[in-house]
Amino acid sequence: MEQVVIIGTGCAGLTAAIYTARANLSPLVLTGTMPGGLLTTTSIVENFPGFPEGIDGCELMQNLQKQAERFGARISYGNLESVDFSSQPLKLVIDGDTIETRTVIVSTGSSPRDLGLESEHILEKFGVTYCATCDGALPQFRNQPLVVVGGGDSAVEEATYLTRFASKVYLVHRRDTLRASVIMQERALKHPKIEMVWNSAVTEVMDVAQKKVTGVKLKNLVTGATSEIACAGLFVAIGHVPNTKVFGKALDTDENGYLKLYGGTRTNVPGVFAAGDVADSVYRQAVTAAGTGCAAAIEAERFLSH
Ligand code: NAP
Repeated sequence: MEQVVIIGTGCAGLTAAIYTARANLSPLVLTGTMPGGLLTTTSIVENFPGFPEGIDGCELMQNLQKQAERFGARISYGNLESVDFSSQPLKLVIDGDTIETRTVIVSTGSSPRDLGLESEHILEKFGVTYCATCDGALPQFRNQPLVVVGGGDSAVEEATYLTRFASKVYLVHRRDTLRASVIMQERALKHPKIEMVWNSAVTEVMDVAQKKVTGVKLKNLVTGATSEIACAGLFVAIGHVPNTKVFGKALDTDENGYLKLYGGTRTNVPGVFAAGDVADSVYRQAVTAAGTGCAAAIEAERFLSH
């Protein structure tokens, strides 16, 4: 019988692992299909406190893992297939084997929705990014035109944020009205550096041959006209998909699929706690994920001691 199983090894999961390991609970930590989580997809992390020069995303995650292992966390490269949270002990099926545990910390994160273009995937890390806060300040984007795709709060917020660095920001949206909140829309629409590109879809990211972003091809979805914008970066901000599918109906989710919390990090199932992006549609930062990972660990520890 496990005391704590932590699902996911992003900032939330590994912070929960450090805390539960230091509480002598010897947590079993499942990496899933993306060990290290979303931060491993970004180059340099400049906003994680304690690293004045920034730190490589992979290095940060490796450090967190080492720190957790040092105190007795057991990292498993297993993949969760299904859960049975109907009674204690909680049951998890991992690569065909059933594991029983008294508590679970869900930190499966969320995945950015992509445009589904081949060129987009080839140029990821070479100018295509899914996180303006993580990557916007990189030297390659400074004083350059940038393109943001999306019409929600994320896209509008990212476009506004990127005006600090970019010479100009094109905000490409597939309709002619934004979904973002009015106040954020107004800020973006009034901004002298932001130009709206309405009713348009990115059909290709250039230039795969040069292995860097030099522009995007667009299609106007009303007229069918095609055009190009020269840019040094493409920021895709068309929403995130929380990784909650594997829990089926066992855990309550909101209308966007994020786990619902009932005070602190508690889910609807006693003994199951959630931390990080899987339960956070608002902040989605490495440091907030780490913070909730710590909180979930403390709550799991208290649950066990009661
Ligand atoms: P969102 O509200 O779901 O918006 C996604 C946007 O991407 C929509 O405008 C959508 O277009 C567009 N889109 C979706 N799929 C697309 C595709 N395949 N190709 C092109 N465009 C596509 O997601 P979000 O902006 O990430 O926001 C998620 C939640 O977090 C929201 O509740 C939001 O309010 C919140 N949030 C809040 C803040 C803040 O308050 N500071 C900041 C960020 C996010 P359509 O409009 O046509 O559907």
